[in-house]
Amino acid sequence: MISNRQLFFQHLAPTSTAPLALEIAHAKGVWMHTPEGERILDLISGISVSNVGHCHPAVVKAVEEQSKKFMHLMVYGELIQAPQVLLAQKITSMLPEPLNSVFFVNSGSEANEGAMKLAKRITGRFEIASFNKAYHGSTHGCLSIIGDESFKRPFRPLPPGNVQLTFNDEASLSLITEKTAAVFVELVQGEAGVIKGEKKFIASLRRKCDETGTLLIVDEVQTGFGRTGKMFAFEHYGILPDIITFAKGMGGGMPIGAFVASNEMMRSFSNNPVLGNITTFGGHPVSAAAALASMNVILHERLHDTVKDKEQLFLQHLAENKKIISIRSAGLLMALQLDSYNTVQRFIDLALQRGILTDWFLFCDSAIRIAPPLTITNEEIEYACSIINEALDLV
Ligand code: PMP
Repeated sequence: MISNRQLFFQHLAPTSTAPLALEIAHAKGVWMHTPEGERILDLISGISVSNVGHCHPAVVKAVEEQSKKFMHLMVYGELIQAPQVLLAQKITSMLPEPLNSVFFVNSGSEANEGAMKLAKRITGRFEIASFNKAYHGSTHGCLSIIGDESFKRPFRPLPPGNVQLTFNDEASLSLITEKTAAVFVELVQGEAGVIKGEKKFIASLRRKCDETGTLLIVDEVQTGFGRTGKMFAFEHYGILPDIITFAKGMGGGMPIGAFVASNEMMRSFSNNPVLGNITTFGGHPVSAAAALASMNVILHERLHDTVKDKEQLFLQHLAENKKIISIRSAGLLMALQLDSYNTVQRFIDLALQRGILTDWFLFCDSAIRIAPPLTITNEEIEYACSIINEALDLV
């Protein structure tokens, strides 16, 4: 009989020449299990998705219950669907005014596309500024604003008007002008290998946007829902975004994204032209129910409040390792800087052979990504670190 592995290589469009190609039969909490009965500790959460762990019982229950009531009914924005309105109420209750209107989509890229369109519609400008090594998604619009030319070049021409700024460089803020519709920023750059925005720099960025009438769009697709030790990364910075985008950890493992702005701004999509931004599946009711359940788990268990101590525990157990050149971390989003891409690749293999799943970063292939479910226990962190240290000794 043809194996799933053979089918994977024959019929699934590849994204790289060397996929992990590891088959998982089921997953629970921080553990993934292969059909052969091996267990693997997930230290990357499907890239910052499984913040409440795999198959959290509350999320599974919400999916089961909602899927029995109704699944897709109608394109986004027409019918009143309890999972969507309750989720929008929950999200806006966690955000400061005037971030009180939620547009539900399916992914981080789609959230950022919507935010870009909204900024153009509101300001009547088309220039979008963004930072070197920023990642905002893989669609044409998102690609046009990411900060890595090697990813963009083969797909040019891309939508025009992107202005590239240098992260944490005050001088580059002079490129934000009265022509700039919006600046996109990840307050902690994820795919760059966990680069934190400096507080002073982010404050200057906010000020410059205010001076030029430019909207500040904060991409919390990777940092949202507890990962950095606050519910949202912007809370570390004391700034108010004009638009904020979410996905990944939002759905507790189900696909959903959103961009949030003021009611007043969002209304502009409803006229001139009517249906200015539309989506068939955005805010799918089963995903919305899962997202609400996941947020309630984070809030009730105060998972975001546990992140700082867990980060410290990782640091405590890894800081002495001589193979690690430096550690950059923002809560449970961590980069262990090694000396090269090859060392990282060898490490990933060695760690996986010992039952630990790690990864590298899109724009920083010489660092190891550590971003476990926020539910990871202290014992699991200690176990993970012992394997990481063992694998590092062998690279
Ligand atoms: N923004 C950021 C900061 C991300 O990390 C990602 C995904 N890595 C995206 C946007 C794109 O999200 P998606 O893959 O859901 O389109």
